[in-house]
Amino acid sequence: MFPEELKIDSCVQLNNGIEMPVFGLGTYLATGRGGRNAFLKAIELGYRHIDTAALYNNESEVGKAVQDSGIPRDEMFITTKLWNDDHGYEKTLRAFDASLKRLGMDYVDLYLIHWPVEGLRKESWKAMEEILATGRARSIGVSNYMPWHLEELLGHTDVVPVVDQVELSVFLQQRELRNVCNMHGIQVESYSPLTKGRQLDDSTVARIATKYGKTSPQIMIRWILQKEIIVIPKSSDPGRIQENSEVFDFTITEHDMSILDDLDQEFRTSWNPTLVP
Ligand code: NDP
Repeated sequence: MFPEELKIDSCVQLNNGIEMPVFGLGTYLATGRGGRNAFLKAIELGYRHIDTAALYNNESEVGKAVQDSGIPRDEMFITTKLWNDDHGYEKTLRAFDASLKRLGMDYVDLYLIHWPVEGLRKESWKAMEEILATGRARSIGVSNYMPWHLEELLGHTDVVPVVDQVELSVFLQQRELRNVCNMHGIQVESYSPLTKGRQLDDSTVARIATKYGKTSPQIMIRWILQKEIIVIPKSSDPGRIQENSEVFDFTITEHDMSILDDLDQEFRTSWNPTLVP
């Protein structure tokens, strides 16, 4: 159930009973010392969920920031992901070990298949199930899975993914996928909620932002949360990390939500999983 009262550390209960914070920090392109400082700043501001991936070349910095923050490990929620080159049963097991090592952790909260690699994703899921059974990933899920990828997966496993992390913003609303996920108890998680910064000057969003005394990014993040979707905006800038977290002191009215609903236009900023059979 998605929390009714939203706070920076509010959690949704996933289909395996695990609690996952509905708001987190994205980390793509945040690397090195700058990345580490950004992650620490976010934790200081109350972020309790960080989204990394083997691809992002920052798992070590995430691990160090969590350690340096002094926040107990079990109060943080850390997601990492299996990269495309590491698909296949044995390779998945090895890639997971390498991620844990870089993170300096003995478990992750969520391990995701980053992309539905054709021909190999089924085998990789078998390995994910095994990793789950050892307790070194508390949950497993997928990313960039479209409805047909999910149906295929559900046809050969008893372990329903807890999450499907997909590109989703007010400009790419993924209605069909959201319905399929809801039907199967899979929590939707939005990546690139701010369209990587490309649509922040939209006049409708700006007008609504002014009405609430908020910024356009804050409206875009809040719209996602009010749709009961997990959101992980990325910033490396301390001011913007704070700005993106100040979305818990207002509610967008139903009327304004429906105006924002009308902005759906298939605007995509990343790779396109609808092209993967
Ligand atoms: P976002 O939509 O979160 O946008 C990030 C960009 O917007 C950055 O350039 C950032 O710059 C800028 N920005 C952030 N906040 C503000 C603000 N308040 N005002 C103006 N500009 C702002 O894009 P991402 O693609 O990074 O998505 C978020 C996260 O989702 C990723 O970091 C990653 O963790 C995950 N992801 C997962 C994918 C997958 O395939 N599973 C694919 C893509 C992303 P600055 O840092 O300078 O503030």
